[in-house]
Amino acid sequence: MNPVFAKLPTTIFEEMSARARANGAINLGQGFPDAAGPEDVRQAAAEAALNGWNQYPPMRGLPELRAAIADHYSSHQGLSPDPETEIVVTSGATEALAASILGLVSPDDEAIIVQPAYDAYAPLVRQAGGVPRFVSTRPPDWKVRTEDLEAAVGDRTRFLILNSPHNPTATMLDEADLGLLADFCVSHDLITICDEVWEHLVFDGAAHRSLMAMPGMAERTVKIGSAGKIFSLTGWKVGWAIAAEPLAAVIAKAHQFLTFTTPPNLQSAVAYGLGKDSSYFTGMRAGYQASRDRLSAALTDSGYAVLPSAATYFLLVDLAASGIELDDRACAIRLVEEFGVASIPVSALYETDAVTTALRLCFAKGDATLDEAADRLAEARKALT
Ligand code: PMP
Ligand code: GLN
Repeated sequence: MNPVFAKLPTTIFEEMSARARANGAINLGQGFPDAAGPEDVRQAAAEAALNGWNQYPPMRGLPELRAAIADHYSSHQGLSPDPETEIVVTSGATEALAASILGLVSPDDEAIIVQPAYDAYAPLVRQAGGVPRFVSTRPPDWKVRTEDLEAAVGDRTRFLILNSPHNPTATMLDEADLGLLADFCVSHDLITICDEVWEHLVFDGAAHRSLMAMPGMAERTVKIGSAGKIFSLTGWKVGWAIAAEPLAAVIAKAHQFLTFTTPPNLQSAVAYGLGKDSSYFTGMRAGYQASRDRLSAALTDSGYAVLPSAATYFLLVDLAASGIELDDRACAIRLVEEFGVASIPVSALYETDAVTTALRLCFAKGDATLDEAADRLAEARKALT
C-alpha cells in the first residue's frame, strides 16, 4: 500500500459530517450550502443532459466553457487567459490541485504550504515525491509573514501553495500582502499554486485580486477556481486551472490520466452561469453576508468571541477567548455529541505547530437552521465555561 495515502486519516470534513449524521446534529462543519442553488444554472444542466452532447467532451474542457472562463476573469479580475492554451477544466478544484501538483512537482522539490492549509495540498506534494515545508499563521490576524517565508525557503524550494480568500480563517490577502508575496516568488523563482476557489465569496464591498495579476506573476502562477463555490453547488465538481501555456500543457497531461474529462452537461451549465449578470454575484454575496452577520451576532450575544470573517462562508470562534478551555478537537466532539452542532476544529488543518483554540462554523444555511444552531451553541457555552 502507498504510505502517503494509507497513513492518512479520513478527512476532517467527512469525519465531522459522519458524526453529524450519527448524532442527528445540525451540520455547520463541512462547508456546503443548504439551499438548492440557482435554478437557471441547474435548468441549463438539465437541458444539456437531455438535449446536448453526453459523450466525452474535449480533454481540456468544452470550448464554450473555456471561452466563458476567459471572459469571466477578464470582466471580473482584469485577467486575459487564452482559452486554447492557458485553461484546463477539471473535475473540481480538487482535481485541478492534483493535476497541478502531480504535473509540476518533481521528486525532492520543496513546496511551501501556509498553515492552516486545505487538507489536499500536503499529501499531493508527497505523492509527487516533493517535500512540504510548512509556514504557520496564527490568530488574530492569520497573516503570512515574509520572515517566516524566508526562513522556510531553501535551494530546493520550487513552489508556494497559497489559498486566498482563505479556508478556514476567512481572511483574504490585501494589496500589500499580494505585493510582498509576488516579490518573494519572483526573487526565489517560485511557481505559486494559488487556490482561489473562494474568489466570489468576499464581503463588505471587498473585491478579490488574483496574485496572477501582480507584476512578474503571470508566467509563474497557477490559478485554481471552482464552479461548486461560485454557484453554491458543491456536488458539481467542475473546476479549472489557469496558467501560462508551458505550465498548462503539463497540467493537462496530468489531468488526462486523472479524470480525462468532466461531465459535459455540467460544463455547459457552468459556461452559462459564468456569463450571468454581475447582479447575480453581488446578490449571492449579500445573502451570505446577511447569514454571517446573523450567526455572528447570535454567538456574540451568548458570549462567544467571534473572529472577523472577510470572505468564504465560514467564521471562526476563539474558544479560549470565549472562556472555553477545551482544545478545539475535544470541544468539536462534545458539541456534536452532546449539543447537536457539528463544526471543524482548525487544528486538523495543521501538520505542525497547530493552533488548537479555533472552531470553524459554516453559515451557508437558512435562518431557522442558523438560529437553532446558535441556541444550541449558547447552551453549550453555558455548560462548558
Ligand atoms: N480548495 C479549497 C480551499 C476549498 O475550500 C475547497 C472546497 N471547500 C476545495 C479546494 C475543493 O473544491 P472542489 O469541491 O471544487 O473540488
Ligand atoms: N472544502 C469543504 C470545506 O472546507 C469540504 C470539502 C471536502 O469535504 N473535502 O468544508
